[in-house]
Amino acid sequence: MADSANQHEDHNILRGAPAPSPPVQSQLEQLKSILDSLSEFVCRFTVDGVYTYVNAAYAQLSHKRPEEMIGQPVLPLIRDDGVRALLADLMANPRRLMHKHVYHFSDSKVISDEWTEEPIYDDQGRIVEFQSVGRDISAAVIAQEAQRQAESDYHLLARNLPDTAVFIYDQELRCRLADGPLLTQMGFTQKFFEGHPIAEVALADLAEVTQANFRAVLTGERRTFESRFMDRDLLTSVAPIQDDSGQVIRGLVLVQDVTERKKIERDALRSALEHETASLLASFIRDTSHDLRTPLSIIVTNTYLLRRTSTEAKQVERLDLIDRQVKRLERLINELHLMSSLDATESNDLNRQPLDLHQLIQGVAKTNNNPLIEKNQSLTLHLDPDTTPILYADESQLVLVVMNLIENAHLYSAEGMPIEVRTQTHPDCVTLQVIDQGEGIEADHLPHIFDRFYKVDAARSTNRGGAGLGLAIVRRIVMLHGGKVYVDSQPGQGSIFTVELPLNPINQMHG
Ligand code: ADP
Repeated sequence: MADSANQHEDHNILRGAPAPSPPVQSQLEQLKSILDSLSEFVCRFTVDGVYTYVNAAYAQLSHKRPEEMIGQPVLPLIRDDGVRALLADLMANPRRLMHKHVYHFSDSKVISDEWTEEPIYDDQGRIVEFQSVGRDISAAVIAQEAQRQAESDYHLLARNLPDTAVFIYDQELRCRLADGPLLTQMGFTQKFFEGHPIAEVALADLAEVTQANFRAVLTGERRTFESRFMDRDLLTSVAPIQDDSGQVIRGLVLVQDVTERKKIERDALRSALEHETASLLASFIRDTSHDLRTPLSIIVTNTYLLRRTSTEAKQVERLDLIDRQVKRLERLINELHLMSSLDATESNDLNRQPLDLHQLIQGVAKTNNNPLIEKNQSLTLHLDPDTTPILYADESQLVLVVMNLIENAHLYSAEGMPIEVRTQTHPDCVTLQVIDQGEGIEADHLPHIFDRFYKVDAARSTNRGGAGLGLAIVRRIVMLHGGKVYVDSQPGQGSIFTVELPLNPINQMHG
């Protein structure tokens, strides 16, 4: 820092006073050249308004050289009336003064300056001069104006989007702009959001999801999410705003009130469901009443005839008939009950345990083969040798799958036709096939045979099979176990039903 004697000499040289000693002279020259190299405008003038120093940038403002200006009165050189009045007042009433000016030129060029006038005191504390420093702030003013314009455009846009609120937030997740009719409709003001970090203003239970999504958008992603707030359904879309270089500088948020739309969607869904339910119920009643009525009418007729039958042999015959129809009814009711309980079952509800599929098949083959023997049909098991396919499954349900498929093969094959069960073990699944050489299924029917109540030949199958629920039950059980079932069939040649089941996933999961 220069001492006071030097400072005193500085004043002198700047005023053009007698030349100082050579070293001081060279320092002052350096200082002068530094001041001349500044883009800021620097000058000094006495309290009487006479320039004692101007740097190159300042002189340039008046299109003069610094030497021409030193010693000249300040006020005549100031072109702007306002500034001239301000400086005259400063001289009459010396103080520190800061002021900004915007100059509009005829070529529509606009220049903005920012000035500070500082009083300079002598040793006795009297103001002897003013030092004035100014800088061109046009670029900053233009940038500010552009931003103001952009913000006002955003406000305009936001206010004209019906049922919408628009927000812009910055890298610090601070809300820079909030507007739109939805804000007012929900009782919020712009001030509630603008300038505040999202974390402060995000609605408690939405804060986490909001922040996570907003942050992701700042890395260039787009996000859309739904939320419910104040009995409204809100759809929020967040997108990045990029600068010219493609860098994300802000996030743009559009919050739309979609309550009405959602309500219409819900109503439409509800009425579609009601319609669907009604038509399902109607077809259920139609299908089951037919399946119930047939055995019931056989029972009613035979009971009536039984009362009028005198011979014991005839009575036994009728009782057998009644017995068969009662069993059929019982089976239908059991299947209906099973189907509805399977409908209500989730995969997690299954009573699973590790079980050996081969053992299960052998068990079914041993216990249920009377009807096959009656029809002189052989049942051969070709179980993949050297493997033990362990499933994690509900045993009673898988028994039903195997039984239903074997029973169908038996029912829809002529006397003496062979039936085979094959398995093949793969790395993560096992396939089970039930193969018959029976009547097969026409291609038209194939896509439907797993549908509930679907019978290929409704008239004929009343005497065989059930109500068309067997394969629907098979499919539901297989799906609950994470597997699939499909069929290959050629009319007159036979059918292959294939069930694919995952091998014990728990064991695989635990390595
Ligand atoms: P159901 O319980 O009445 O037998 P399913 O759902 O088991 O009904 O079978 C639906 C239809 O698929 C049956 O009506 C039958 O026509 C046909 N079908 C099922 N399995 C076979 C098969 N192995 N061979 C030929 N047709 C079959």
